[in-house]
Amino acid sequence: MLLAFISIGLTHAIEVRKLDPAFWWAGMKNTELQVLLYGDQIARCEVSLSSKEVRIKEIVRLENPNYLLIYMDLTGAKPQSFEILLQRGKEKKTVPYELKARKAGSSERPGFNAGDVLYLIMPDRFANGDPNNDVIPGMRENKVDRSDPFARHGGDLKGIADHLDYLQDLGVTAIWLNPTQENDMASGSYHGYAITDYYQVDRRFGSNEDFRQLVDQAHQKGMKVVMDMIFNHCGSENTLFTDMPSRDWFNFPEKYVQTSYKTATQYDPYVSAYDKKKALDGWFVESMPDFNQRNRHVARYLTQTSIWWIEYAGINGIRQDTHPFADFDGMAAWCREVTEEYPDFNIVGETWYKNNAAIAFWQKDSKLAAPRNSNLRCVMDFPLLFTMEKAFEEETDWDNGLTRLHEYLGQDFIYTNPQELLVFFDNHDTSRFFKTKESTKNTDRFRQAFAFLLTTRGIPEIYYGTEIRMAADKSEGDGALRADFPGGWNGDARNAFSAAGRTKEQNETYDYLRRLLHWRQGNEVIAKGSLKHFVVDPLKGIYIYERKLNNKSVVIILNGTSKEQVLPLEPYREVLPKTEAKEIIVNRTVSLSSALELQPREVLILEFN
Ligand code: CA
Repeated sequence: MLLAFISIGLTHAIEVRKLDPAFWWAGMKNTELQVLLYGDQIARCEVSLSSKEVRIKEIVRLENPNYLLIYMDLTGAKPQSFEILLQRGKEKKTVPYELKARKAGSSERPGFNAGDVLYLIMPDRFANGDPNNDVIPGMRENKVDRSDPFARHGGDLKGIADHLDYLQDLGVTAIWLNPTQENDMASGSYHGYAITDYYQVDRRFGSNEDFRQLVDQAHQKGMKVVMDMIFNHCGSENTLFTDMPSRDWFNFPEKYVQTSYKTATQYDPYVSAYDKKKALDGWFVESMPDFNQRNRHVARYLTQTSIWWIEYAGINGIRQDTHPFADFDGMAAWCREVTEEYPDFNIVGETWYKNNAAIAFWQKDSKLAAPRNSNLRCVMDFPLLFTMEKAFEEETDWDNGLTRLHEYLGQDFIYTNPQELLVFFDNHDTSRFFKTKESTKNTDRFRQAFAFLLTTRGIPEIYYGTEIRMAADKSEGDGALRADFPGGWNGDARNAFSAAGRTKEQNETYDYLRRLLHWRQGNEVIAKGSLKHFVVDPLKGIYIYERKLNNKSVVIILNGTSKEQVLPLEPYREVLPKTEAKEIIVNRTVSLSSALELQPREVLILEFN
């Protein structure tokens, strides 16, 4: 008895501490599956599978004996349960594995497109639906403090689910959530960009099942869901980093080297090797080490995490963080694979550059990148944001104000597809549309800006809280940009989720946006129509453009000055097919037979059916 006991004590039982992915699906186009097992000395195990259909393609043992990669060939494999058999000396372990059946129509799921308006939510800061999950014992950051802009505030998935009616009433058609995967970091974990487990929703937001149900509920209300993902880096507490499979899973694995953030090095024809390496292989910050996507095992691991979430939770799109900071070819291969599995699924990359040439370089099929191809369908129109910041503030003349929009959009020949640009005034990293409390009083600017955003080309994104005039400037720090939505927490003084809880001013902006958003829903002219615009007469300062599809059109007229204007209509007859039109903001008929009188900063949206 004693000998037997000692013998068991000396032989470590085979332990699987991590199995990524925990299950997969039969019937995927890509029939290769990488299964990563993590456990003490697991690489010393021999591996076999109990399935007759699933074959082992390759077993990979890495520098670190705590990892074992099994590449399986799923060609022809039906949905089934089988066992991964591990044997190390006399020790044996069976690990159950499942290939699930895919949901009908999984490949054909609709992605987001220019018919949609995305509403961006930072889950920790929107609403706290379940105070019981605010602090999870054993997790590194284990407190909430709403007075600290850098601490967790307790918002969660239930808080979002509880307010889907609000979003439906507002009229957005998609929600984009900042990252929801586990961030078990000592501090700053609220924003979600330091992932410590790619296959686990952060338990302070809820469970994986909660996330899946949220997606289902959003779909039932006619809203799509876009998931934020980060392939460039992970959190420094991720096991993949703290006990890395091999040194070549990370760039600069021995020592923190910070990126220069100069991702122009991706396309600069004069780039030096030193600069390119520093920008792309340097770490984003010290708590976010940089993945080496040139390592095929890393690329496979990351790609599978995205396919897993698409298939498991039913999401419609991905927003890829710091897209240009990662390896060009690795990211291009990832985009291609996702598109092959899900042809209509959309990915938007965070392409943060100041000029349109840089943005255009990153778009799928761009001649600027040829012979390379990013395969990235949607890119972010940051230069339009910088243009709009001035356009709606300034008095319009030869160079300034709305003239900027005409000049910028006139350069759209640079894009493969201008309709696949995410257009926005703000997000979690920028100043809000309203930078100061004082600026929230300028409703003319708000009305013009959002009429433009929702009718120009591209896919609009609205940052949570703009509809109720939440204001913040980047100089106040990122926490200020990510303030709590009023009413999301029990005991909040105001509940802006209901009309009764909003101030008169908040209802004014909410109702205006709501009207535009509901009008835009299902509007094919805006989603798919052509764009034609007119040179801004510097003396009148009026910007006029048309969206047109077949025999339907919409004409938008913006007075970019603080003066009343009388606009002769003769120059614009080619977009005015009738002598009257329905104006949709105030729902009235506008006569177009002679000159048009415009109030200071007036905006008209004229519909011709
Ligand atoms: Ca909570």
